[in-house]
Amino acid sequence: MTLDSLRAEARALEMRDCERVSSLPAHRATAAPRYRPRTVRNTAHTTTKGDLMAPVIRTTGVAKRYKLGKDNQVIALRGASVAIDAGEMVAIVGPSGSGKSTLMHLIGCLDAPDKGSVFINGRRVDNLSGKALTKVRATEIGFIFQGFNLITTLSAIDNVALAAEYAGVARREALERARELLAVVGLADRRQHLPSELSGGQQQRVAIARALINSPSIVLGDEPTGDLDSSSSDEIIALMRQLNVETGTTFVLVTHNPEVAAACDRTISMRDGMVADHGLADCRTAAVRPATDARDAGFSPSPVAASC
Ligand code: ADP
Repeated sequence: MTLDSLRAEARALEMRDCERVSSLPAHRATAAPRYRPRTVRNTAHTTTKGDLMAPVIRTTGVAKRYKLGKDNQVIALRGASVAIDAGEMVAIVGPSGSGKSTLMHLIGCLDAPDKGSVFINGRRVDNLSGKALTKVRATEIGFIFQGFNLITTLSAIDNVALAAEYAGVARREALERARELLAVVGLADRRQHLPSELSGGQQQRVAIARALINSPSIVLGDEPTGDLDSSSSDEIIALMRQLNVETGTTFVLVTHNPEVAAACDRTISMRDGMVADHGLADCRTAAVRPATDARDAGFSPSPVAASC
């Protein structure tokens, strides 16, 4: 099977869950450093522009509507503002149709808002071109999906390594990183297994390793426990939390599972396309929420956040 056909299969798999997802997660244009646990959590973040204390993820009044035919439209987001610090593990919850996935797609640079702005690591990304967006996704973001989205014809190690190879890493180095990461997620002895020879929980571990292989600063999960039984779900929740704590990687998880939310630092609640609750102490909520979520009143983190 050629790399091109594997790429096509990967793309088709991801299209199942995300209309505009580019193939495997986190494609780096240049070789990424090998997976290295980081110990930093919730620290000040320095952006390339020297913007100290910028959250790793920030949206300001993002709105998104989908046109359905000539006269119909659905308003998925009505102006949602969130700020998520480096090293946080955050759940996004809310009823079906409340805009959770749409918000996550905007954060993941898979789609652009009609109004408002999205900042990743202090850099505005909603106005970037396709190529530049792809690079941000490649260097900053890993994805975990409900259905795992592994390539069925590849072993666990090849599924993980391929994400690094796409990013330009030489095969030998990619395999070495994949081996390390599969050990980290507890699958050292299942490296050569095909997805069909692994349980759902094990497949999601492979997907988590794949999401981390290019050392992204953010991992986005769309219902990461949605296809798992309760004991596998518990294991995956614990694994994500462990990786969040040990590596400092920011995790943002869209979920209906209260146990996922309980494991997170906080829960952002969505309702009717807006953020109903930021899950923060009042003083921090005041800091991250503009005058109103529904109108983009701009975003100005308040110094009061630091005193909370
Ligand atoms: P949630 O993740 O909370 O279930 P979504 O963000 O998926 O909510 O959807 C919000 C609203 O936008 C829903 O009414 C949904 O039907 C609609 N929607 C989402 N994606 C599309 C799309 N690609 N085309 C048309 N409508 C969409």
